[in-house]
Amino acid sequence: MSQSALEENGLPVSNFSTRSVHALENRQKVHRSLVEPIFHTSTYTFDNMADVVSYQEAHQWGLPTGRYEYGRYGNPTTTAAEERLAALEGAETAILVASGMAALTYTFLKHLPSGSHIVMTDDSYRRTVQFCEEHLKPYSVGVSVVPLGDFDALEAAIRPETKLLFSETPSNPFLRILDVERFAEIGRRRKVTTVIDATFSTPINLNPLALGIDIVIHSATKYLGGHNDLLAGFITGRKEIINPIRDYIGILGGISDPNTAFLLLRGMKTLALRVNQQNRNGQAVAEFLASHPRVERAFYPGLKNHPGHEVAVRQMRGFGGVVSLLVHGDQQATFRFLDALRLIYISPSLGGVESLALHPASMAYPDCTPTVRQRLGMTDNLVRLALGVEDPGDLIADLDQALRCA
Ligand SMILES: *Cc1c(COP(=O)(O)O)cnc(C)c1O
Repeated sequence: MSQSALEENGLPVSNFSTRSVHALENRQKVHRSLVEPIFHTSTYTFDNMADVVSYQEAHQWGLPTGRYEYGRYGNPTTTAAEERLAALEGAETAILVASGMAALTYTFLKHLPSGSHIVMTDDSYRRTVQFCEEHLKPYSVGVSVVPLGDFDALEAAIRPETKLLFSETPSNPFLRILDVERFAEIGRRRKVTTVIDATFSTPINLNPLALGIDIVIHSATKYLGGHNDLLAGFITGRKEIINPIRDYIGILGGISDPNTAFLLLRGMKTLALRVNQQNRNGQAVAEFLASHPRVERAFYPGLKNHPGHEVAVRQMRGFGGVVSLLVHGDQQATFRFLDALRLIYISPSLGGVESLALHPASMAYPDCTPTVRQRLGMTDNLVRLALGVEDPGDLIADLDQALRCA
């Protein structure tokens, strides 16, 4: 765990608000700047050839070099963002890349050699499933999709060539909850690397590494950035497993940039504040929707009748800021509800300070046939709400007046 710096400063490691602001920060920044500067440089200089030789020697032995060489291999602003996230996840190291999809695809490409196999759970981010099912084919990588929570199906799907077990939690858009400890135990016992896309959880609500998971991935575009103004992704875990991916990305090239790293560092300082408010908004809105006559069903892990509630209570510190619902009525009624929202915007994405509403059938699965959408549960009356940090009373008032129009 990368918490030693905090313990040395005498800070309580359980305090996520403090960690969000200070974890692993460099307290002596250039020119005594309080804020981590943006290092706008593509390359770094050497004093002389002896400096070059000692750098190369250390690098070859895998020793800390204490410096940077070239922008594709690292940048101080990027490193600061990586260390903050690693500290929040209790990880040895983290890599910042261009997007959540870059984090996922680089991890899959590195860990799924030709002829290998991945088992993933359903209700995953559509592009992730698409990458595995369509774009790994040329490499003859086999893909099995099993229902999230069906551990018998998961075990049965594992083959001798299986290299990765992948899941999200909570899932999208039905907020199913993975028993992360059980998932990790199966991976350990069957000697398969486990990967969790924990974008919906955030490190404030869940730390999958502490429950035995090998690799944790985030779309930092969502809660970590938190302001709907950047795209980025993180890959995090133990050094022995993450550093080979880092070297591979140094070749593939899809790194992030120092401006994005700066915005992320700025966003992450308020991560605990924002997520705690989003957890409160999620619970308040879910309870309101669950008892509303115009709502057929509400999906939220904080509701006692949600199938993942018990596991979430046991393994998570919060239920998150995403709530899905089925509007009582057809597509037209659902569109009337969405069109009537005044505070909540119609928009994809989640995790930012603004509350957003998504109609999955037309915004995430527009190219699927109605039969496929039906099979995936993406019915015409399904809406996903990604709550921001507004006042819960105002959000509920907006939803209430819009539901009256449905
Ligand atoms: C948004 C999202 C992604 C993709 O991340 P980008 O930053 O948009 O590339 C992956 N997984 C989940 C769960 C997401 O919500």
